[in-house]
Amino acid sequence: MLRLRSRRTLALGAAGAVALSGVAIATNYAERDRSAQLKAQIDGHVPKNVILFIGDGMGDSEVTLARYYAKGAAGRLNMDRLPFRGSSIHYVLSPGPGPDYAPNYVGDSAPTATAWSTGKRTVDGRVSQGPSSALNVPGSNDGYRTFMEIARDRGKATGNVSTAEITDATPAGPSAHISQRACQGPDDTRKTCPSEAKENGGLGSIAEQQADAGFDVVLGGGRNRYAQPVLAGGATTVLDYARGKGYTQQPATADDLAKVSSLRRGKVLGLFSKGNMTTEYAPLQARSKAWQDAHPGFDPQKDAGSAETTCVETNRPANEPSLSDMTAKAIELLSKNRKGFVLQVEGASIDKRDHAADVCGQIGETVAMDDALGVALQFQRRNPDTLIIVTADHSHTSQMINAQQVPASLAAYATLKTVDGAPIRVAYGTATEEGASHGHTGAQVPVWAIGPQAANIQGTIDQTDIFGVLNGLRPSRGSGWWSHRPAYGK
Ligand SMILES: [Zn+2]
Repeated sequence: MLRLRSRRTLALGAAGAVALSGVAIATNYAERDRSAQLKAQIDGHVPKNVILFIGDGMGDSEVTLARYYAKGAAGRLNMDRLPFRGSSIHYVLSPGPGPDYAPNYVGDSAPTATAWSTGKRTVDGRVSQGPSSALNVPGSNDGYRTFMEIARDRGKATGNVSTAEITDATPAGPSAHISQRACQGPDDTRKTCPSEAKENGGLGSIAEQQADAGFDVVLGGGRNRYAQPVLAGGATTVLDYARGKGYTQQPATADDLAKVSSLRRGKVLGLFSKGNMTTEYAPLQARSKAWQDAHPGFDPQKDAGSAETTCVETNRPANEPSLSDMTAKAIELLSKNRKGFVLQVEGASIDKRDHAADVCGQIGETVAMDDALGVALQFQRRNPDTLIIVTADHSHTSQMINAQQVPASLAAYATLKTVDGAPIRVAYGTATEEGASHGHTGAQVPVWAIGPQAANIQGTIDQTDIFGVLNGLRPSRGSGWWSHRPAYGK
């Protein structure tokens, strides 16, 4: 592990939680060449275990904001400590007649999850299934086998964890093949993707496909999708169906989950909320100048914040496990498998709160995912044959702006006091009207890695490249760094 912690952070750690009044002029000054340390991190063995963290919508802007707010200007997140760091290009496809498709530079979570799950691109709204002329025309599933299906068939234990509905696009990526991400439960599928419903000879809804996929540990929200009847109007729900497929352990609370101790009693399907799970931090809504002018008595703890506002960090009810709790339990259960395991962990509501211009919700979910990464890094330290990759599916709208700057007209903004005691201002500028959802953005996203074959996560890579790394790569015969890349341009 590279020593990236600054002396200031260490000094603070020794002194306890001290309120900072400023930061040192030179904090992370490198005194010695680190080539040997980096070289020591290069390990070409195929990893035994793989853990993939997805911060949904967690672009560099979202990472920097969470770091400054929660750790301070000189602080570091766990993800900042990983030795390899690249950028991932994540454009998707526009519908068309094929065989080639125009790029769509700003995609949603379904085709981006498809990219790392299958190594292939597809169109917006589509999960691990090929492109077609229109969203309501299903594509082909041929060649869209996912890394988690491959790992399962190789005898590895498999796990899928998310703070969203577990049937949402990102956790659906490795676990289902369907033309529209909205087809999460059987009723949804009968309505929106009828030709793919089980009774019409299809693979069924995302929930049913997850039960059929048989991954060992499935944890998240989305109980309402699994409560839908398998047959229209019938009494058998997907939860019942899953029980018949071996999911005999179905924890519904944090306490239930803590009591699960082994996969010998059956596979684990833990659904801890009806929809998406509750965020760690209470919402704090960014508001436009127009809104603030029209509401002079607004409460800065709920709207727009101030230079003295901090986030309320106790929003999640105790009966819902944290992402760290779910990650720790998944690793505990999966790591008993002799052949190793593959686990995907999603911090989903970074994206969802970014859409809503909820600055505290977004920051809290980024910190929560980083905390879950800390759990995985502790495991990795004891089990160095584990590869950990951390990335985002796409970038998002939040931007840090100067704390005195007031963005024009309808752009929402909020101000918070960071752990440094300094104000930070965040603007959201992609909604079409006041209060509407803000949109994804297209900038390449960060990707970090540690462990065997982590050196493949370096430089500018394509999101589909991650698929190969997740499966374990064979040794390269090329000699130069660029041997597998297109030639240099002029
Ligand atoms: Zn989104």
